Amino acid sequence: MTSWSQGQVPRGRYAPSPTGRLHLGNARTALLAWLDVRSRGGRLVLRIEDNDFTRARPELEARIYRDLTWLGLDWDEGPDVGGAFGPYRQSERADVYAAALARLDSYVCTCTRAELRALPTMGATGEAVYPGTCRHGATQPGRPAAIRWRVPAGEVEFVDRVLGPYRQAVAAEVGDFVLRRADAAWAYQLAVVADDAAMQIDTVLRGADLLDSTPRQILLQRALGLPTPEYAHVPLILGPGGAKLSKRDGAPDLSALREAGAAPEPLVAALARSVGLVGPQVRAIRAQELVAGFELAATRTPAPLVLDGLM
Ligand code: GLU
Repeated sequence: MTSWSQGQVPRGRYAPSPTGRLHLGNARTALLAWLDVRSRGGRLVLRIEDNDFTRARPELEARIYRDLTWLGLDWDEGPDVGGAFGPYRQSERADVYAAALARLDSYVCTCTRAELRALPTMGATGEAVYPGTCRHGATQPGRPAAIRWRVPAGEVEFVDRVLGPYRQAVAAEVGDFVLRRADAAWAYQLAVVADDAAMQIDTVLRGADLLDSTPRQILLQRALGLPTPEYAHVPLILGPGGAKLSKRDGAPDLSALREAGAAPEPLVAALARSVGLVGPQVRAIRAQELVAGFELAATRTPAPLVLDGLM
């Protein structure tokens, strides 16, 4: 299927999980998602991905709104502002996920975490390839049951707007993956596919840590007869050690900066410099001022994030 919105403006989304405060990496991804949509005259949906009820902290949602607004970003649809495609909180969308699940060829799986951890083959995602133990009827009665998708064979290939061509043989490199967990939480992969389609999202910009999820999502879209959005995976902010930026690196979170009375313009400038959107001479800028000249391609070669003059 082709895109939803031929002749219409692009519809993108920013989809944070309220499991922790927004850090500078989240801020840069949010800024880029906003710029990518706004520079094309599109609409931005803010979706709260609280599907994992074991980790979601509802009190963080209001903080997300305040932090993004402080950064200079806005959105056209979301839990706080409403819109035609809501509800915009995953915890309120169980019926959408159940309807999608009912249309997929799935089976129950009673493998325990320990059993899954002990599997020998490491796959494309850095996790073990599920060998289909329960697909072949080896379920253990009385154990909590997850639901897995019987993944069709074949390779998925797509061209990422930032990273270029990417391919994955999902059945061989990931295996049958979980659609609903044993604790009844809806799996991210199913929820995101059902939501992107229901909200008519045709352009997705998110962190590069989700690149290897995209083939699973495209395969689900095909099985459900849904269109595939265009994808852009942007670099993560790395800490000094080259790993994903974390609290241990001492980087402030967005709320901490805001509540300490920092102005957003120096941070926006630092984020923009780190992905080549402005030159080193730019020390303060508003998000809105980046819209006109926005080039997604610049993000291909990120530079270190240099935070100075924030306070
Ligand atoms: N909720 C995910 C996260 O916060 C993002 C999912 C997505 O953009 O597809 O990492």
